[in-house]
Amino acid sequence: MSLTVVGTMAFDDIETPFGKSDKIVGGSASYIAWAASNFVQPINQVSVIGGDFPQEELTALVNRGVAMDGVQVKKDEKSFYWAGRYHLDMNSRDTLVTELNVLADFQPVIPPSYQGSEFLILGNLTPQVQMSVINQMNPRPKLIVMDTMNFWMDVALEDLLKTLKMVDVLMVNDSEARQLTGEFSIVKAAKKILTMGPKYLIIKKGEHGALLFHENHVFFAPALPLDEVFDPTGAGDTFAGGFVGHLAKTKDISFENMKTAIIVGSAMASFCVEKFGAQKLREITKEDISARLEQFVQLVNFDIDLV
Ligand code: AMP
Repeated sequence: MSLTVVGTMAFDDIETPFGKSDKIVGGSASYIAWAASNFVQPINQVSVIGGDFPQEELTALVNRGVAMDGVQVKKDEKSFYWAGRYHLDMNSRDTLVTELNVLADFQPVIPPSYQGSEFLILGNLTPQVQMSVINQMNPRPKLIVMDTMNFWMDVALEDLLKTLKMVDVLMVNDSEARQLTGEFSIVKAAKKILTMGPKYLIIKKGEHGALLFHENHVFFAPALPLDEVFDPTGAGDTFAGGFVGHLAKTKDISFENMKTAIIVGSAMASFCVEKFGAQKLREITKEDISARLEQFVQLVNFDIDLV
């Protein structure tokens, strides 16, 4: 059983009300791989990096069971670079810089060793690349999960709408769901998105948790109330990695199991925000993850006598 992950491997510059990271390694595929590798290996990574990307980072991921055959290295070019600044509430941020660099003309090539992957997660990057990967995977994976963001709605909406028709699960945050549909109500937006291709939709609401929609069903997973949120960067990708990692581990793609998967995703995201970048994700053990899942169970567990 295996999971293919597509996304950026990047440099980020993050500024929060509490500090600055300087240039650190980030990118959607990095966070997804760090999170998902706790649940499933191998992970088949698909990305593109420049000659400036640190070898230690690649080695650390390989040691976590992440295959790099699908990661192109463009020695003379620079890696994708993103800079962002968080507002005081840490739920919203401004993108200060997006330099596509190696991503600008990236043509992914799926190596033969990746074929037969049962699960595919399209992390946030160019919809055209996401589509190209789906088209190259033969047989089609059992479940295709897609993440995206407002940036691609602004610059590549047509391709994004085409890609939506090819996937099973879409993940977006609440403002992106509104932007995609023009609906202010999250419930109305969800209904619209479920007519655009995906059969399942996850709407992330930052510190207010996440909602899972399917047909007429809806399920809510809270976010863990934390004393301190240090850096929310990558929380969405880490959530995605925990979600798809759990599904790939259990090989069960029922709505019931997706409920568990979004709790696992929320638990992983709660670690991510505790330190800058993916630092915390590198440090945690299986025991830490189990203990945190137990905290989620306690958070939502109550008895009631129905009248
Ligand atoms: P998140 O906080 O989950 O939205 O993810 C933040 C990560 O996404 C950062 O590590 C960035 O490198 C990466 N990122 C930012 N903008 C983009 C973009 N337009 N496409 C792909 N990845 C991006």
